Amino acid sequence: MAATYQTEGRIAVQGGAALEALKERAKLWDVALEEDGSAIALCVWNSKARFVLEGDSVKVTLISPEERLLRTLQDSVTELLEGKNLAIAWDKVDEGALAPSLSLMTVASVSRRSPGYLRVRLEGDDAERFATGSLHFRILIGPRGRTPIWPRTAANGRTVWPEGADALHKPVYTTMATGKNWLEFDIFRHEGSPTSDWADSNPIGETVGLMGPGGGGCPAAAELLLFGDETAMPAISRMLAAAPGKVKAYLQVSRENLCELASDERVVSVDNLVEALECCETPETCHVWFAGHCDAAKAARTCLLARGFGKRDFTAVSYWS
Ligand SMILES: Cc1cc2nc3c(=O)[nH]c(=O)nc-3n(C[C@H](O)[C@H](O)[C@H](O)COP(=O)(O)OP(=O)(O)OC[C@H]3O[C@@H](n4cnc5c(N)ncnc54)[C@H](O)[C@@H]3O)c2cc1C
Repeated sequence: MAATYQTEGRIAVQGGAALEALKERAKLWDVALEEDGSAIALCVWNSKARFVLEGDSVKVTLISPEERLLRTLQDSVTELLEGKNLAIAWDKVDEGALAPSLSLMTVASVSRRSPGYLRVRLEGDDAERFATGSLHFRILIGPRGRTPIWPRTAANGRTVWPEGADALHKPVYTTMATGKNWLEFDIFRHEGSPTSDWADSNPIGETVGLMGPGGGGCPAAAELLLFGDETAMPAISRMLAAAPGKVKAYLQVSRENLCELASDERVVSVDNLVEALECCETPETCHVWFAGHCDAAKAARTCLLARGFGKRDFTAVSYWS
């Protein structure tokens, strides 16, 4: 790791409990933990949170290749400790700054991509950072008729979110295309969707927040089998373009909404994703990626585990519930 940014803090008492909390978090997030005597380090986002026990107190050092990641880690460590009633005093906190992974962008256009999809183009200086690695972001939409209040860093290093009437709508979407100062994403329109209603309301010129990027990229497997519904089609479209090896996609999407994927020979239209998964051959070397309704994702997980897939050989995620 090219360590360029660093910050320190101290937990004055209950050092042992702080170390246990860090171990617990590493297990929960399924990320590496380095242990060396009275020091442990959690390794995540190409960064490190190192806890060194000194008597009953703990010296905390955060190291990261990017300031944004360093501040995100500072937020997470503070939140983790707060959850255990432990306080940390940081050497430096950017009090009042916008939340670490937040960029503010302006809506440039909303167009109909197909009967079921709207394409939104956002503009902002930070757009290009959403082009790397992870495919997804969280869009923050302010309550209608109110000036949005954005999440900011508090004096203790944690991000404070607006609540009550100022609470933001914050669903997750997939970046479809980026360029210098712009980004596009596709919204699948469905009943009762605040995001679809917002996009339909001609929000040109409005400011929205984008948090991320996050949520992983295209699995680097020799053979990739992708399964998804309309909400997962943007991610599958990105993976079809990025996959390094053999790839096939099963989509539960009506033909009129397949857009450019309608003519892609690697794409198969199906009526039921779980049935398609149950019937298809899954060679030993393949990685299965599955996303859709939470019940379908759960059924996919059960099916793949029953077939002997290891937990790292497949991805089965809920995109909506
Ligand atoms: C990593 C990730 C990436 C995603 N990328 C995209 C993307 O690029 N494009 C996209 O359109 N979606 C995407 N989704 C799904 C999207 O986040 C959800 O559909 C989300 O619910 C949309 O928010 P909402 O404004 O509809 O509000 P919510 O409050 O979340 O939902 C409102 C109501 O709509 C229902 N609902 C949600 N989705 C659907 C649906 N598909 N069909 C019918 N009812 C539904 C909910 O059950 C709820 O009752 C992604 C999800 C994840 C986790």
